[in-house]
Amino acid sequence: MSKRIDGKAFADRLCATLAEEVVSLKQDKQLSPCIAVVLVGEDPASATYVGAKVKRCEQLGIDSRSHHLDVSTSEEELLNLIDELNNDPEVHGILVQLPVPKQINGDAVINAINPDKDVDGFHISNAGALAVGQNNMVPCTPLGSLMLLQDELGDLSGLNAVVVGRSNIVGKPMAALLLQQSCTVTIAHSRTKDLPAVCREADILVAAVGIPHFVQADWIKPGATVIDVGINRIFDEELGKNRLVGDVDYTAAAEVAGAITPVPGGVGPMTIACLMYNTVAAAKNQAGITS
Ligand code: NDP
Repeated sequence: MSKRIDGKAFADRLCATLAEEVVSLKQDKQLSPCIAVVLVGEDPASATYVGAKVKRCEQLGIDSRSHHLDVSTSEEELLNLIDELNNDPEVHGILVQLPVPKQINGDAVINAINPDKDVDGFHISNAGALAVGQNNMVPCTPLGSLMLLQDELGDLSGLNAVVVGRSNIVGKPMAALLLQQSCTVTIAHSRTKDLPAVCREADILVAAVGIPHFVQADWIKPGATVIDVGINRIFDEELGKNRLVGDVDYTAAAEVAGAITPVPGGVGPMTIACLMYNTVAAAKNQAGITS
């Protein structure tokens, strides 16, 4: 039976440290880290994510300003709000909850955010900075996954890492971070041939696919470390209600892997903790505080 990597406990520890830092920034530097969270429309999953982020801010003493816009908001109106927030010196981080309604070009909105305030790390210049090893704001889910891997394995240098999924928000930045750690990185996707064989080569296997229980136990090299990024809602016949599962068949995989993140309680809490981390880092950067 493998070790269960407790992302919630790690996230709580990280947030406790950040809360202390926020207290001292307020007391010693008169700096109050602040994030603006923008939600357009009424998507229930997005509203839940935004609620969880705002709650974490409150716990850490980070100011949050919520902007909840109508589903019919135009791209121009949203861009005007971004412009306002970019020019507000009291706002250090800007997060636009994705997806946005179809009349709005999500890429245009993200790329309108000042890259130094782009706490999600999705701006094209932050993606480029990550690709060339000049990290500015790093996407939260890959950053949190890397922290868990380093906590579990220490030095990652020379390990074979397979990332299943090549999205701009998870797969690609995850691969870039692992490459920076001198892993030998393979990015797999829907066109990959013989995916099980590719996965079996992995000392580190990251699943970011969006298909419940996709990665099977016999795809995993014995002793490998498995990071399950997936968040999928499935109907559980026994429970008679929906529950969250990952992209990995956890119960079977846990018999083979050396260590594995559960869903829930693995990468999910790290994503929010890293959003807090990026917000504090953005506030310090903008105030010229280097330590
Ligand atoms: P996307 O849908 O953007 O990307 C999915 C990737 O999986 C694509 O690259 C796709 O390949 C690949 N894929 C799909 N089917 C297969 C297949 N049969 N074999 C191999 N690869 C396949 O998803 P995201 O990256 O945004 O998210 C992935 C998962 O992570 C989702 O469950 C999401 O909910 C979750 N998530 C969790 C977060 C957290 O905080 N824990 C944060 C963000 C996401 P191709 O490019 O070829 O189509």
